[in-house]
Parts: sequence; structure tokens; C-alpha cells
Amino acid sequence: MSNETGRMRVFQGLHAKFMSVIGLTLLVMLAVVALIWQRQTTTQEEVLRLSRDATRTLVFDRLRQRGEAQVGQAADLLVNPTYYFDLDAIGAATRSILHQSDVSYVLVYDAKGSIIHDGSGDIPTFGQQMRDPLAQQIVSADALLVLSTDEVMDVSTPIRIGDQRLGGIRVGYSLVKIRAEEAHVNREIGDRLREIGNRHLAWIGLLLLMLVSLAVLVGIVLQRALVRPIRQLSDAARQIEAGNFSTSLPVNARKDEVGTLVRAFARMADSIERHDRDMRRMAYTDSLTGLANRLAFRETLDHRLMQLRGVGRQLALLFADIDDFKRVNDTLGHDVGDEVLIQFANRIREAVERAGGHASELARFGGDEFVILLHGEGDHADVRSSAAHLAETLVSELSRPIVVQDRQVFLGTSIGVTLFPEDASGATMLMKNGDIAMYQAKVAGKNCYRFYNRAMDQAVSRRVRIEQDLRGAWERGELTLAYQPIYRVADKALIGAEALLRWQHPVHGHMAPSVFIDVAEQSGLIDTIGPAVIRTACLDAMRWRRESAGADELFVSVNVSARQLRGGDFHEQVMEALAESGLPPQLMHLELTETAVLSDEDQARRILSGLREHGIKIWLDDFGTGFSGLSHLRRVPVDGVKIDRSFIADMLRDPDDLALTTAIIAMAHSLGMIVVAEGVEKEGLYDLLRTRGCDLAQGYWLGHPVNMQDFMVFLE
Ligand code: C2E
Ligand code: MG
Ligand code: MG
Repeated sequence: MSNETGRMRVFQGLHAKFMSVIGLTLLVMLAVVALIWQRQTTTQEEVLRLSRDATRTLVFDRLRQRGEAQVGQAADLLVNPTYYFDLDAIGAATRSILHQSDVSYVLVYDAKGSIIHDGSGDIPTFGQQMRDPLAQQIVSADALLVLSTDEVMDVSTPIRIGDQRLGGIRVGYSLVKIRAEEAHVNREIGDRLREIGNRHLAWIGLLLLMLVSLAVLVGIVLQRALVRPIRQLSDAARQIEAGNFSTSLPVNARKDEVGTLVRAFARMADSIERHDRDMRRMAYTDSLTGLANRLAFRETLDHRLMQLRGVGRQLALLFADIDDFKRVNDTLGHDVGDEVLIQFANRIREAVERAGGHASELARFGGDEFVILLHGEGDHADVRSSAAHLAETLVSELSRPIVVQDRQVFLGTSIGVTLFPEDASGATMLMKNGDIAMYQAKVAGKNCYRFYNRAMDQAVSRRVRIEQDLRGAWERGELTLAYQPIYRVADKALIGAEALLRWQHPVHGHMAPSVFIDVAEQSGLIDTIGPAVIRTACLDAMRWRRESAGADELFVSVNVSARQLRGGDFHEQVMEALAESGLPPQLMHLELTETAVLSDEDQARRILSGLREHGIKIWLDDFGTGFSGLSHLRRVPVDGVKIDRSFIADMLRDPDDLALTTAIIAMAHSLGMIVVAEGVEKEGLYDLLRTRGCDLAQGYWLGHPVNMQDFMVFLE
């Protein structure tokens, strides 16, 4: 957020900077204009003053010249009349001067400064002494003298005859009129100058206006050409940063740098979008199958739930898990496993598309788990039935054999279905429910589907409880071994017994191994239970030998899980049990599943070879349910195979199973292995097995698994 405002500030700053530069330029221009204006006014004033001075000097000098000439002439003219005191003549001379419009006074005076004539008829001032301020200077002057006051220019000169001074004449030229004229002229000049000044001012104003307009224009152009596109770019960048690639960039055909920048930016945005799309695709798709992955699915689910909440629409979540997929990986390798997954994904996709693909989403959850999100079109019953229909289709579609590398692989799928909002309102709970339902489908025998219900939660917690209860069960004596007799088919002689674990739960009573062996393996409890089973089986076998006649050569066969084999000290465990009990190694048989033997072939071969060197026999249990096929038998050091009871049970009805069993027997024999048939429940089966050359057999028809006491009784 602070980042954002910071960026905003930068862009505001850019605009403001442009504006302040323009403003500053304008101010400077204004200052220059003001200076010019001020210079012009002072110049005007100066011009005015100079012109006034010039006119004044000019007018004054002319007046003075005129005055001097006039007064000089008059003085010459007045010599005789003054000498003879001819007042008439004096009067005529003075009057001729006085008549001039600008003459204020004409005074003729005697040597002492007394007025003789003033140009008037009755001469009222006659005989009066001149007392004005200029008088004294004038009277004492002996040459032409020009004096001025504000109002008059006084021109005087003495009147002489020879060296004798008779008096003088002074003429006062009025300056008032001249001044008035001068003022008039000056005013006129001033007016002219002002007029010129105003014209200049108008020009300057126009110039200023043009400058301001120019500045505004530059501002607008800058704003449009630079600031706006940059802002748009920064907006777009922010949008892109927020992941919104649909933001529109300023379309730009401009040929300038900004155009180039915008186009470069658009290209960059495109490439970021492409990268983003690629990254998303990578992050959200499962690379093997191309389906959406867990992450993508989770987002879709969250999104859908948010849309549906409160709308009253339903959806269904289907969790599909391939049954025993691990065995494919373990026995056929990961390449085949991958191939199987791809084919599975394709089948699921096709099935989902057929069942209304537009309203569903499919994802691979990693491993062998697929999840389908089914949207409800209408009411709630609809979703349930369409989910059931889809689950049914998937189960039957996915149980068709898959052909990988010229080999047929039979796989089943268990599916858990959960409904929104019936079962849960949140994504996490829904996914958990789907998982629980799927697990229940597995418990129910696999290759089927189950809808989630609340009771299943209890089933899950039961599993947790089983684990808790199983802890220490051996020590408390709840776990015991049952023994099921194994016969030689040829002569129906008892030759050994398989040790089978039994759990008498203090509350729930008898618990089936299919329920708790799984828990023991997954929880690691088998690490303590397994060795105890081996040890007890050895001790029990020794007891038969000691206490029953004819049980000397009876072997005991012990089931070993894959986890036990990989435990590290399995060899020591077995050898210790044998040493402690004293049981001969050749009376000890170990039953391992294909998965246990083939998942880590090298290690298994090393351990099994080591045990076989001591004479211990190794059997492959549940043979036929895996994928190893007979050819794999060459690679593992085993002494025999136990054909799974599912094949034996159907042998009488299903010719395929009979053929398979026959083939297994023949193949095993050709490899020097013996064949054990389990699950022989009928006499007919036994007879059939005998005709096919099966070596050993066990089953309810021959003998149920019984506890140690009963087995001892049985031996008697
Ligand atoms: P398995 O090793 O294949 O054992 C044979 C199973 O077939 C036993 O089931 C046995 O009671 C049952 N069975 C024998 N004859 C017949 C018959 O005629 N008809 C039918 N329907 N079933 C028959 P059980 O005792 O429930 O054991 C199940 C599985 O649990 C065993 O299969 C074995 O894989 C595992 N298991 C049992 N005890 C142990 C043990 O001590 N350690 C380990 N790791 N696994 C054990
Ligand atoms: Mg077994
Ligand atoms: Mg078996």
C-alpha cells in the first residue's frame, strides 16, 4: 500500500514537475515583461523631462535673444529722449514694446533707479524708486543683464551717452504664457508617449497571453504525450502485478519513444501473461496424465463451493483409488505403472465425459487417486443418482483389463462418494469424507463404490482404536497362533501346518487378520508382532515334535509381511528363533507375497538366499493375484508357490481358473518348485488337484485353523 502511494507520488511529482517548470518559466517571463514595462515608463519619463528641458531652453533662449535685441535697440533709441527728458518720446518707445503681448512691463529709470516712464499714459509710478528684488542688481549693472523669476524674464540695459550713464530700461517678458505653452507641448508629448506606451503594453500583453497559451499548450501536450501514457502504464503494471492480465493498454500507433515504450510494455505484459499461463499450467496440471492436479482441484472446489453456498445447488465428489496399484509398480516396474495410470486416466475421462462432462471436473490427486467433481443440475436426488451412475460406470469400466507392454493387467477401483452440502459444507471436510468413503469401499472388498455416511467416521476411528488396542496385545496374551494342517495331496498325509495369527479382543472378541494385519503393517506394530510370531511358531513346532509321536517331521509355515522382510535384521530374527527353539531349519517355512519379494528384488533375493542356505523353505503366498506371472519365478529364490484360494475355489466352475492352476502347477514343477493349494473346501477340488499333480493342500475340507491345544489334540 505504501509502495503504491509512493509510486503515485512519483507520478504526481512528474506532472507537478512539468507544471512547476512551466509555471517558473511563466514567472520569469512575467518578470521580464514587468522589467521591460518599468524600463519603458522610466524611459518615457526621461524623454518627457528631456523634451521639457529642451523646449524650455529653446523658448527661453529665443525670448532672451529677442529681449536682448529689443532692449538693446530701445536703449539706443532712448538715449536722446532720456537726455532731453522727452517723456513723450520715451512713452512712444516704451509703449511700442509694451504693446507686445508677452511683455508685462517696460520701465525706464534714471541713474538713481527712479522710474521715469512705465509706458502708461499718466505714469503713476513716475519718480518712484524701483524696489522689486531685482532692482538693485539691475541699477548697479553696467551692461545688458538678463534676470529671471518664475513669472518674468527681466532684460535690462543701461542707457548711456558716452561714458555718462543716463539711466536704464528694463523689459519684463511674461513667462506665464510661455510656461503654459510649454506645459501644453509637454502634455502633448506625454500623451503621445503614453499612447505609444499603451500600444507597447498591448503588445506585451498579447505576447504574455501567447506565452501563457503556449505554456498551457505545452502542459497539455506533455500531459497527453507523456504523463497520461506513463500513468496508464503504471496502472496497467499494477493490474498485471495483481494478476489481472485482461487490463487494456493504451492502444498506440505512436512513432515516438512513448509509443515504443508502450509497445515494449505490451509485449512484456504478453510474455508475462504467457509465462504466468505456463507456470499455472505447470503448477496446476499433473505432468503424467495431463489432468488437473490436487492444487488445481482444491482451488476449483473452493471456488465452486463459494458459488454454490446458499444457492441450494448440490454437487458430488467421487474419490477413485486403484486397488492394489502398488503391486503393479512393485512387480512390473514404474514404467508400466505410469502407463497404467495414463490409461486409467483416459478411461476415467471418457467415462466422465459420457456421464455429462460439461458439469464435472476431473483431477489426479497423486499416486493412484483420482477425484471427480460432479455438479448437480437439479434437485438433490438427482446428484445422488447421477453420482451413483457415474461410480457404477467407473467401477465396471476400470475393471476391464488394461493391456500394457503386451501384458494384460487386471485392476479394480474403489470409489468413495460424498455429497455437498449433505455430508459437509467445507472443502476439507468433503475431501476427508470422500477419502473415508473410498476406504470403506476398500474394506468392503474393493472394486466397488460407497456413499459416505456418518457411521463411516466411526469406522475410521475404529481403525485408530484397533491400532491403539493392538499395541501391547501380544504381551497381554490377546494374540495367539492358530494352526491349519497342510497335507500331501498324493497320499493325504499330514506333513505340516500354517501358523495363522488370531486376536481375541477383550471387548470385540475375535478379530479377523484381514482387519488387523493391515493396521499392524501400516502402523509398524508388525515389527514387534512379527518376530514374536516366528519365535512362538518355532517353539510350538518343537512341542509337537516332543509331545506327539509321528510329528517329528512336521514343518511349520509362518506368514511374513513385506515390511518384516525389509526390516534389516530379519535373517537374525529367524536364526535366533531357530536357535532358541532348536527347530531344524528345514522344518521352517516362510510364506511371502509377491509384493514382499518383488518390490525390492535385490534385497529380498539376498535375504531369502541367505535363509535358504540354512535349509529354510520359502513359499510365494497368494500366488496368481499379483502380476508377476510365471516367468518372474525364475528370478526369485523360492521353493514353492501357494496358489491363491480364489483360483482354487472356482476351479470346478471356471475352466479358466482350472487352466491357470494347471499351468501354474506344470510351470512350477518345471522350475523345480512345489505347489501348494489353499482354500480346498470340497472333496471335488481335492480330487481335481490330485489329478493335476498338485503337491500340497490345505483348506476347510482338510482342516480348519485351530489353536495350539486343539492342534495337539488333533495330532494325537
Ligand atoms: P493366507 O496366508 O493366505 O492364509 C490363508 C487364509 O485362508 C487364512 O485366513 C485361512 O484361515 C484361510 N483359509 C484356509 N482354508 C480356507 C478355506 O478352505 N476356505 C476359506 N475361505 N479360507 C480358508 P486368515 O487366518 O483369516 O488369514 C488371512 C491372512 O492374514 C493370511 O492369508 C495372511 O496373509 C495373513 N496372516 C495371518 N497370520 C499372519 C501372520 O502371523 N503374519 C502375517 N504377516 N500375516 C498373517
Ligand atoms: Mg499364508
Ligand atoms: Mg494365501
